[in-house]
Amino acid sequence: MATPSLALPFATDLAPAAVKTARATGTRLTVRGLSKHYEGLAALDAVDLDVGAGELVALLGPSGSGKTTLLRVIAGLLQPGAGAVHFDDTDATRLSLRERGVGFVFQHYALFRHMTVAENIAFGLRSRPRSRRPSKADIARRVQELLALVQLPEHGGRYPEQLSGGQKQRIALARALAIEPRVLLLDEPFGALDAKVRVELRRWLRRLHEQTGQTTLFVTHDQEEALELADRVVLLRDGRIEQVGTPAEIYETPASAFAFDFIGRASTIDGEVRDGRFGDGHAIAALPTDSAPGRARLYFRPHDAVLADMGFAGRVADIRRLAGVTTVEVELAHGGTVEVDVANDVAVPERGAAVHVKPRRYGVFAY
Ligand code: ADP
Ligand code: MG
Repeated sequence: MATPSLALPFATDLAPAAVKTARATGTRLTVRGLSKHYEGLAALDAVDLDVGAGELVALLGPSGSGKTTLLRVIAGLLQPGAGAVHFDDTDATRLSLRERGVGFVFQHYALFRHMTVAENIAFGLRSRPRSRRPSKADIARRVQELLALVQLPEHGGRYPEQLSGGQKQRIALARALAIEPRVLLLDEPFGALDAKVRVELRRWLRRLHEQTGQTTLFVTHDQEEALELADRVVLLRDGRIEQVGTPAEIYETPASAFAFDFIGRASTIDGEVRDGRFGDGHAIAALPTDSAPGRARLYFRPHDAVLADMGFAGRVADIRRLAGVTTVEVELAHGGTVEVDVANDVAVPERGAAVHVKPRRYGVFAY
């Protein structure tokens, strides 16, 4: 996947003038050796992270993996035990939230209930010291631009309680963008919304990002959201970075058993690595990478395997037909069950039939 600032079409005639400014000043974010401990537990353990100017990076990981801690340290809401945060060439590690100029949206972003939508968006600009505060007319213009940008141009006079959950989060985003932040930090912003709205909003956010080119770090525990939305995905596990890559790299070549399990569907076969090959006693597979001899587990995606004449032997245990794809569940002769996805128009052996499973793309990891 190409660098977004080069590859993405910039809708010049659509984007308001103030938004173009934000794009031109996209900030590079660099994190080095960041650690944070809570009573001996490492919430962050020597994290290195690079986010390019104008890039949208998803921080993905299970609950408790350190995503919020990392975001809060970058924002300046939390001091790290060790390490540094740079915005472009400026060391921001000791700067306050306000000095860093970051925009923040949380899962449950409390808009001010007693203020209209327009007043909410204007809040960050109005509360600036007089010397740096734009004029009333400029603030009003900026608010109208932002309302147009988040596609709620007529909603400025409403109160938060008159908005749907999805509209509230779009206003929260407009409010975060109002100060022209150097970096936009989003912590599960769509996490509290229902599935259909979440899907709509992530596509909307992706288009918005293509217009603004705002450097963005987006936290989620939802792999689909991360893979669909981001230029690059950073997979976190227990306060450490497990893998970094484009969505395609993360999905197609998971670097560890954890990455295979956490992202997408995975089937596994237990066996052993011997003489440079993986075997389960019935069949063998060449190793995709060097693996040490010993107990190992082969991982593959159900759509990366076929039913063939040779391979891991078993019997069809179940057949499930879903929109567009048929999943064949195979009980292996050597123990365990795996799944193979085939197209709906392909003939499938019936339940109980003897078959062989041949993974075409897979990873082998010791355990
Ligand atoms: P995530 O956002 O990925 O769910 P967090 O960054 O919130 O994870 O938490 C990472 C780890 O740090 C978890 O084990 C959590 O329990 C712990 N943690 C977070 N904040 C605190 C705190 N204020 N005090 C003690 N432990 C904390
Ligand atoms: Mg969190």
